Amino acid sequence: MPTHARLIRTCAVALALMAGLPADAQDGDRAKTNTSTVATAAVAIAADLSVGANGATKLTLTLSKPIEARAFVMERPDRAVIDLAEVNFQLGAETGRKREGLVSSFRYGLFAPGRSRIVVDLAQAATVGRIETVTRPRDGAVLLSVEFQRADRDAFRRAAVSSDPSPALRKIVAPSEPTDARPVIMVDAGHGGTDPGAIAATGVFEKDIVFGFAQALVSRLEASGRYRVRMTRDRDVFVPLSERVRIAREAKADLFVSIHADSISAAPQVRGATIYTGSEKATDAESAKLAERENKADAAAGTESNEGPGHVADILQELTLRETRTFSSGFAKGLMSQLGPVMAMSPKPHREAGFMVLRSPDVPSVLVELGYLSSQHDLDLLQSDSWRADVTGGMAKAIDAFFGNRTSLTRPQPARRSAAIAPVSP
Ligand SMILES: [Zn+2]
Repeated sequence: MPTHARLIRTCAVALALMAGLPADAQDGDRAKTNTSTVATAAVAIAADLSVGANGATKLTLTLSKPIEARAFVMERPDRAVIDLAEVNFQLGAETGRKREGLVSSFRYGLFAPGRSRIVVDLAQAATVGRIETVTRPRDGAVLLSVEFQRADRDAFRRAAVSSDPSPALRKIVAPSEPTDARPVIMVDAGHGGTDPGAIAATGVFEKDIVFGFAQALVSRLEASGRYRVRMTRDRDVFVPLSERVRIAREAKADLFVSIHADSISAAPQVRGATIYTGSEKATDAESAKLAERENKADAAAGTESNEGPGHVADILQELTLRETRTFSSGFAKGLMSQLGPVMAMSPKPHREAGFMVLRSPDVPSVLVELGYLSSQHDLDLLQSDSWRADVTGGMAKAIDAFFGNRTSLTRPQPARRSAAIAPVSP
């Protein structure tokens, strides 16, 4: 959003607060469903850090109405998590990026339907002190503050929870109609909610860039009428990596396409797209490092990543996975040849690495790094409509080629599905 538009919106909210008009009158009525939450969510117009005399650091949210809050700390990396009812964050782009007292930075966003979260990176071991809500008399704004107190490592460790209760995630995927034989394409926009992904020097988040691209790809594929297209997230919400895999498998997806845009701050000249397929062994050290970084997305959002379906349990599943990966590679090659003419590719455009989202044993899966947010050139392209149209067009062609003229055939049985959806020419 342009800065002036954001300002105007922020001012409007501030005015509403000053006039004593809460954004929503039904205070006790917590948002029940994902669709109506925006209208009923509390609005946050400021998030400020302050350091007290004893070194305690307070994070204060200025809200349009009182909400419930719960906070806890987690180790490795040291962080605090503040769970809230859904909040519509109307905060400046720089919010949370500056170190203050015990807090080195914080990020915020929608964590699950009806639930927002603030993840606080701790500069040193600290525990959660008082959580307070007061109403500011002059304008009726609600100030919610969470205090962090210095703690030694032992006290921190005792306070730290090993993992937080997993959110009751909404099923984004509607059950597929049994009569519809069209292949299911699962488009996975990387990151989301409390996990911003890479951040460009201009402040643009990877989660927003890849979501815009994913939406464009979905429209493109839907327009052809040949596919049923689903998304692992359909808005700015956090979805754990294993959940993305589960969503794809539950929807009986025939192809999983994950969209990312990396950043290498040390090398702003590095640019171009790379297509990854899953493998226990990475092609090169760089790919291994990238997969490791992407696999930390759950921790960035304040959850422990569970092992998920990645660890293949038996030999049958192992065989299925191996077979599926042949198809994934076949699709990656087709994708490479379609994208080469329309976009810059990295020097080695098809690589393998152990990405968690590429571990469905029965869904051919690729992860596309569209380019580098650290390259101004790539960043400009990533935000260009005509570039986006070219690239989604190339992807659609590769998907058409992958399914060939099998799209009109009856869906194969799940047990041997990966074999039956063999591409025309891998
Ligand atoms: Zn990413």
